Amino acid sequence: KKITADDIRKSVANDDVRFIRLTFTDINGTLKAVEVPNSQLEKVLTNDVRFDGSSIDGFVRLEESDMVLYPDFSTWSVLPWTDSQGGKIGCLICSVHMTDGKPFAGDPRNNLKRIVEQMKDMGFSAFDIGFEAEFHLLKLDENGNWTTKVPDHASYFDLTSNDESASCRRDIVETLESIGFEVEAAHHEVGDGQQEIDFKFDDALTTADRVQTFKMVVREIAKKHGLFATFMAKPLQGQAGNGMHTNMSLFKNGKNAFYDKNNKFHLSNTALYFLNGILDHARAITAVANPTVNSYKRLIPGYEAPVYISWASKNRSPMVRVPSAEEVNTRLEMRSADPTANPYLLLAACLAAGLDGIKREEMPMDPIDCNLFDVSEEKRNEMGIKPLPSTLHNALKAFKEDKLIQDALGEHLTQSFTSSKELEWSQYAETVSDWERNRYMGY
Ligand code: GLN
Ligand code: MG
Ligand code: MG
Ligand code: MG
Repeated sequence: KKITADDIRKSVANDDVRFIRLTFTDINGTLKAVEVPNSQLEKVLTNDVRFDGSSIDGFVRLEESDMVLYPDFSTWSVLPWTDSQGGKIGCLICSVHMTDGKPFAGDPRNNLKRIVEQMKDMGFSAFDIGFEAEFHLLKLDENGNWTTKVPDHASYFDLTSNDESASCRRDIVETLESIGFEVEAAHHEVGDGQQEIDFKFDDALTTADRVQTFKMVVREIAKKHGLFATFMAKPLQGQAGNGMHTNMSLFKNGKNAFYDKNNKFHLSNTALYFLNGILDHARAITAVANPTVNSYKRLIPGYEAPVYISWASKNRSPMVRVPSAEEVNTRLEMRSADPTANPYLLLAACLAAGLDGIKREEMPMDPIDCNLFDVSEEKRNEMGIKPLPSTLHNALKAFKEDKLIQDALGEHLTQSFTSSKELEWSQYAETVSDWERNRYMGY
């Protein structure tokens, strides 16, 4: 699996690679790219591609605006489509470094590596993650812009072999496979036009890298099918939103440290402590897991998205579920996150919260065995069940009160995250919407 500089040189020559796309991720989770022609390959391979980071969201610090891209060779892939001249594009995911060679603290990918190191110091070998990123396929208008019209009206697991979305979905799967993804499932989701494609779990950094590539491929293939793909949390009012269920487990000495066949739900104490950490820090994690104004329009009753901080084995109404699975597949499924989350920040926050739980060795609250949406507020309070934050504003408040989750992002990212998200909230808060005019104009 290890890829060397020589492997990349060979691939560039043999696969007709004309451009090399170097990508990294900004604070908002947006993939950024510098593309260089193959004549610059040696620079790429010796960490010598520089760029001006001062206009990248979350990077802004004028005095240190010169940045260097350090490609991670193991992420090398050649896109299966060509440019107009027939040349191919090779991709490398990069870490951002300073000109003195130090990793840049404002790079979410570097930050995740930092938290993974803390995990290794505690004796674990890997934080394994499986994402289930949902998205919508939408029709374009005559100018090629997105609309809210859907190409299909199918539902959960519907077999719709002849429509445009099914053929687009298959094309996405084939493309992902051709660049080394192991796709485990692809299916229609509950909502009109809504899709899910799952690829095999892997360690946190690899999976965060892959989901960035995944989104790029989904968008690109949708475009080829004359469709628009969105990962917005709640694009269509009155319909299911897009979640990014996050399946988590910790490995130690080649074994799943979350598995214990003698315990209830086959969860080890390590898993239960980890779970307790996630629940304790849930409100602050939400700022990172659900980072847009629109994210909170998904976290409402009625659409299989969670609203309350609790856990269960079967019931899908709480924030964390324990899917029935054995050995390597034993895991915690956090159902609150949505695909607008920056995957590097999300996993850093979850891992830090879980490790904190492991250090504190406290058991989580009892699992719930009912549909929480049928339980009265009074009863919920009695059970000690708190709601997730109801708005981005409330989530940011929780984030600012949680030192551990702030430390999970580090000073630079905490600062750029809060200032960018507070600006987003204030822009939203001052927007007068049609709903308000319709509701209040007659007052
Ligand atoms: N779309 C739902 C969500 O918002 C999940 C539905 C499912 O995967 N069963 O999380
Ligand atoms: Mg799923
Ligand atoms: Mg799903
Ligand atoms: Mg799921």
